[in-house]
Amino acid sequence: MSDHKQENRIADDLNRLVEINQILNSELELKQQLKFILSTVVEMLGCEAASIMFYNEDDQLLKFTVAVGAESKGLESIPVPLDGSIAGMIFTRNHPLVINDVSKEPNHYTVVEERTGYQARSLLGVPINIRHQTIGVLEGINKLDGEFTDDDVQLLLLVAAQAAVVINNTRIIEELQEANAELRQADRLKADFMAVASHELRTPLGIILGYATFLKEEAEGELSELAKTVHGAAMRLRALLEDMTNMNLLYTGATELRLQPLRIQSIVSEAWNEISQMAESQKHQLEIIQPDQDIWVHADDRLQGVFTNLLKNAVRFTVPDGEIIVRISAGEDDILVEVTDRGIGIPPGELERIFEHFYQVEHHMTRRYEGLGLGLAIARGMVELHQGRIWAESDGPGKGSTFKVQLPRYRP
Ligand code: ADP
Repeated sequence: MSDHKQENRIADDLNRLVEINQILNSELELKQQLKFILSTVVEMLGCEAASIMFYNEDDQLLKFTVAVGAESKGLESIPVPLDGSIAGMIFTRNHPLVINDVSKEPNHYTVVEERTGYQARSLLGVPINIRHQTIGVLEGINKLDGEFTDDDVQLLLLVAAQAAVVINNTRIIEELQEANAELRQADRLKADFMAVASHELRTPLGIILGYATFLKEEAEGELSELAKTVHGAAMRLRALLEDMTNMNLLYTGATELRLQPLRIQSIVSEAWNEISQMAESQKHQLEIIQPDQDIWVHADDRLQGVFTNLLKNAVRFTVPDGEIIVRISAGEDDILVEVTDRGIGIPPGELERIFEHFYQVEHHMTRRYEGLGLGLAIARGMVELHQGRIWAESDGPGKGSTFKVQLPRYRP
């Protein structure tokens, strides 16, 4: 080849490699991209046909996935064994192979020719590798002019590397899509399970609560005490079920707010009333610091649950005879409610995690405190539905905690 021709060829080949790269970034599906790559191979090598075979681990055979050029139809149904085929040799040795007279090659697999009627005279094949794993073979068939050269081999190796990128990207996307579909399915199952379980448990629990209440009041002596214990346990179970239901509704986006103007002072004091018995039984003192004027929020009734939960936690995580302080303050546009206890405190690394579903600072096997770890996750979901923010602050274990809720101020 003259120098001039040689230079032209290099320029042409470079242009084609750039074209292949552009195809890699296109939205075309894998087979179309590979087909384009093969058409380019046919032009660059100056041969009649080209094909890509993938190795199938299940039956340990090579299968034509795409082919271009003469008689490429029907190839997909003809598997090629690793033993007794040229493609098999390229695959198992993971090495390029040039055969300029196929008829003299004892390993040639003649079934393909018999079935398609298309005769291979010369052949250049290279393995396709993804991260050190050979996944298939790329072949150019029947050089039109002369023999396959070393330059052809280098060129085809480059193209095989590019094809590997397309194939790898597609596989990664497919795997991600599959994993995503599985996750969505698991998520649906979990939500359905929580919905069905909490609904189905409610009826028998109602019966237990009803009879326990009756017995507690009507029976006397030890029997009444026993009924009290059953009643207490059933009430706890009901609270857990409510948590599960609320969490599920928030999680699936099914919570609908019925907004109305509410005084934040009333919300907080009603929340305190709900847990006052529990607080008194542990001899906790409550101090509420609040503005004299009425401060309003535009909120759903269920917002109260957020403060009930924070107060209940303050009571639970403080040793008896403790002090709990609620401070309500209002700015122009926002309201801040702070619930401070002098209890067990929270390590700095846990301040955000405690708002995750089912997260508890203490390991569930060694835990001294009951609970599902849902309260704060529900509280955050509810506060965020009200366009607010909730977060925790603590100087660390043993130093108490403050939970802060910021909400938009409403002016009726
Ligand atoms: P649970 O009902 O299991 O307590 P929560 O979501 O209400 O679930 O709380 C999650 C975890 O956050 C608790 O298990 C506890 O480890 C920590 N926590 C919550 N409130 C306090 C508090 N006032 N003081 C110390 N730790 C707290």
